[in-house]
Amino acid sequence: MNVPFVDLAAQYRTIQAEADAAVAGVLSKSDFVLGEAVDAFEEEFAQYCGTRFAIGVDSGYSALELILRGYGIGPGDEVITAANTFIATALAISTCGATPVLVDADPTTYNIDPQQIEAAITPRTRAIMPVHLYGQPADMDPILAIARQHNVRVIEDAAQAAGARYKGRRAGNLGDAAAFSFYPAKNLGAYGDGGAIVTSDPDLVDQVRLLRNLGQRAKYNHEIKGYNHRLDTLQAAVLSVKLPYLDAWNGARRAHAQRYAQLLADLPVSLPATGPAGAGEAMEHSYHLYVIRTAEREMLQQHLGQADIATGIHYPVPIHLQPAFAELGYQRGDFPVTERLMNEILSLPMYPELSPVAIEYVAHTVRQAQKYVRMADSEPAMQHAAD
Ligand SMILES: *Cc1c(COP(=O)(O)O)cnc(C)c1O
Repeated sequence: MNVPFVDLAAQYRTIQAEADAAVAGVLSKSDFVLGEAVDAFEEEFAQYCGTRFAIGVDSGYSALELILRGYGIGPGDEVITAANTFIATALAISTCGATPVLVDADPTTYNIDPQQIEAAITPRTRAIMPVHLYGQPADMDPILAIARQHNVRVIEDAAQAAGARYKGRRAGNLGDAAAFSFYPAKNLGAYGDGGAIVTSDPDLVDQVRLLRNLGQRAKYNHEIKGYNHRLDTLQAAVLSVKLPYLDAWNGARRAHAQRYAQLLADLPVSLPATGPAGAGEAMEHSYHLYVIRTAEREMLQQHLGQADIATGIHYPVPIHLQPAFAELGYQRGDFPVTERLMNEILSLPMYPELSPVAIEYVAHTVRQAQKYVRMADSEPAMQHAAD
């Protein structure tokens, strides 16, 4: 048996007639740039997230960048974000000329640790950018409280969390503005690059609409210096086909996660927590990734690879240890939780179309490797039970 990490073609087959028709519709109409399907998708996605507005852009990275630029965040400003994230989060901040200020991860959820944010605030702080890593919403209530107290914005990096919920509210509707990615492998994936900004702030919407389209409101009348970060009409049409399936697909991911958790419960590996504690049932992880932890990560990954099971590491090098961000002046040891995760995390295959047989095969193979796998550690702070 061969288990890929994701299988985008399998998903395409389930919606092939609709997707083909949507693409053909755009080809017939040929309104390729900011066409009708872009407006339609923006309306649908805003409604889905529970925000007043959505603005389609060409990637998740662009969505983050344009939110920051839309708020006028730039040189001399600081934006607090997670050390434990994908590089795009920090790149979007630095590309605007602002400085990413990193905060270590919570050892249970792997998301930004709200208790360490306060210490990172300075008079230059303009925003906090929590990342809903792997599809699990960051603990937003304490983050919002700190932001209110210091009068700074909260910008969600919701790239991995389309459809996730925090205390009943959708990711994207938890702060001042949020960025989504429609990179093909994300929970709501386009057939190429895409992204969206969602917000209920009309002033921000006005700015980002200008910024994504060369600074023009009316054609050839350029009010500000903008960029070209538009969402393709073809991608918008595909996204409108896919959006009605997102909840079912995320439900399938959650069911797969539950099955993994059952099958792996007695093994000495740490399973994803569905914290933060106290959030109760209204917390919905969207399981963009299913990440386990073990001190014997290399061995386990190799064992799974030999059994034709594809795995990933998200991410092997945290932001503060990336050569690209040497300028920030961080050192090894600055973010101990993140650095430890980097050596122990392993992402197992996770996508809606994953079959029960494949999940059993993956779990069985992890079990086989068990005799070589040691508990990640016995240090209580890094331990948690399966949910
Ligand atoms: C995917 C991703 C992005 C960037 O999205 P792109 O559409 O690839 O530009 C940003 N942040 C996080 C956490 C991501 O996972």
